[in-house]
Amino acid sequence: MRASAYHISTLKEAPNDAEIASHQLMMRSGMIRKLAGGIYNYMPLGLRVIRKVENIIRQEMDAAGALELLMPVVQPAELWVESGRWEQYGPELLRIKDRHGRDFVLQPTSEEVITDIARNEIQSWRHLPVNFYHIQTKFRDERRPRFGVMRGREFTMKDAYSFDRDVAGAQKSYQVMFDVYMRIFERLGLTFRAVAADTGSIGGSQSHEFQVIADIGEDLIVYDPHSDYAANIELAPAPCLLRERAAPGVPMQSVATPEATKCEMVAEMLKVPLSHTVKSIVLATEPKDKPAQIWLLMLRGDHELNEIKVGKIAGLNKGFRFATEAEIVEHFGCKPGYLGPVATKQPVRVVADLTVAHMHDFICGANQEGAHLTGVNWVRDLPEPDLVTDLRNVVEGDRAPDGTGTLSIQRGIEVGHVFYLGTKYSEALKATFLDENGKPALMEMGCYGIGVTRIVGAAIEQNHDAKGIVWPRAIAPFEVAICAVGWGKSEAVRKACETLYAELKARGVDVILDDRDQRPGIMFAEWELIGPPVRITVGERSLNDGVVEILGRKQTEAARVSLADSINQTLALL
Ligand code: ATP
Ligand code: MG
Repeated sequence: MRASAYHISTLKEAPNDAEIASHQLMMRSGMIRKLAGGIYNYMPLGLRVIRKVENIIRQEMDAAGALELLMPVVQPAELWVESGRWEQYGPELLRIKDRHGRDFVLQPTSEEVITDIARNEIQSWRHLPVNFYHIQTKFRDERRPRFGVMRGREFTMKDAYSFDRDVAGAQKSYQVMFDVYMRIFERLGLTFRAVAADTGSIGGSQSHEFQVIADIGEDLIVYDPHSDYAANIELAPAPCLLRERAAPGVPMQSVATPEATKCEMVAEMLKVPLSHTVKSIVLATEPKDKPAQIWLLMLRGDHELNEIKVGKIAGLNKGFRFATEAEIVEHFGCKPGYLGPVATKQPVRVVADLTVAHMHDFICGANQEGAHLTGVNWVRDLPEPDLVTDLRNVVEGDRAPDGTGTLSIQRGIEVGHVFYLGTKYSEALKATFLDENGKPALMEMGCYGIGVTRIVGAAIEQNHDAKGIVWPRAIAPFEVAICAVGWGKSEAVRKACETLYAELKARGVDVILDDRDQRPGIMFAEWELIGPPVRITVGERSLNDGVVEILGRKQTEAARVSLADSINQTLALL
């Protein structure tokens, strides 16, 4: 590729809405241009990187025996009604009508369509197992699109779906995909972690996420540095921090805590550690044809509620919301900020976190404005909770679930997700096959997603410096940039550049020759921003000494290398 014939369009400044490095650098280097919120044009430079990511994914998927097909972006609503997700999927699902008033969706994922294909195409156990995948545009009307391609509304995903005869087969398919993902992310040159994950709205029972480690990541990963344990915080079980409940030590007392509506304020006012306080969170559920049920969730003051865990509690697992102020006043006789489990005005269902259920002499709201209770004890001052369960997020230093080490937390960007689905979709869409005895049986399914465009953002997040992007070779838009200094006036420069360019191309190197006759400073800054792993500078003065300059993107000092050695040196640097 010659730069004069390519579209290079860099910006000095990133637009204001680009908050993080990868978004800024993708804009500045000219990889993407915004068309609408969360919707981007992939410019030639950006598309080169996306294609390289896709090719690595495709090679590894094909090598594992998965079969590529292509399903449409626009899908009929009927299939989504059949699976139940027309109702369940929230506003992220973009619904459209055709000219006849028929409903369609822009696909956010393809379980429905692939299961429809499977029920039509697969009749016999002889056709199984099979794994179909495609690399296709997805649309999710995200509540908060941000960070450029990292959380877009339109994005590219590789999604694969496995079909098996039985659970054992499905688990094998899952393991194959897990291993494929490990290879893909290694080849992409990313620092990542595979973590146990929640199954969310897609359903199923086993799942892992592949998380690229980055401070701006939206996910919290809990791991034990001394073992293999790693899980998304959504899923990671939090231990009970107290072995047993100690006997009451002091009488219960009401103390004035004016304006102290948060545990932090109460602890400060009463000069006690935050861990002596208990916070109250009030939720509501609406069972069919019955008045709303009010729930009081109790957590230690220094702990955080884990809503995923809450969503798995019987009675709360069909959907819950935070109670309204009116509901709170009706049940507690007091406005929020001073709520607690002792002597509520109306009965509420009390759910205590494991640790809270083992506390004694704790502090909680008195259900009276401007007052808290100290020295509160289970049994003596209030009945045992209706339910004791893990409600909280793990914190740094918690005991690991395997009981050995302690847990650390880091941030990650979810770039891949594998699910064992079981028969959730085959049952809903009646995808059966005839087993060896000629009896119809449901297909066992798995699904496996990779965020192709998100990977590009994540890779930059992990690989950049003050000057620009520092690409891993595998997905660099170009591997080498030859920068000609004095292209217009020096025949020797042109000749040396052409020779280098031809030889590198002959060796299979993805090289671009900058023949735009630009001033060196501008040209160098541009290539540092775009970030190919190696830059070769060819100028008349050094050519007179028979040398060119070779600079690795991670290096600060260029090496002067004889023209004869330059190809080998470049290959060695790559
Ligand atoms: P998230 O929790 O980040 O919204 P998800 O759990 O909804 O992700 P999946 O449904 O598992 O994501 O989709 C598979 C992959 O698609 C994700 O691992 C991620 O890499 C990518 N992906 C999901 N949503 C987006 C988005 N809005 N923009 C870009 N990539 C996305
Ligand atoms: Mg999502």
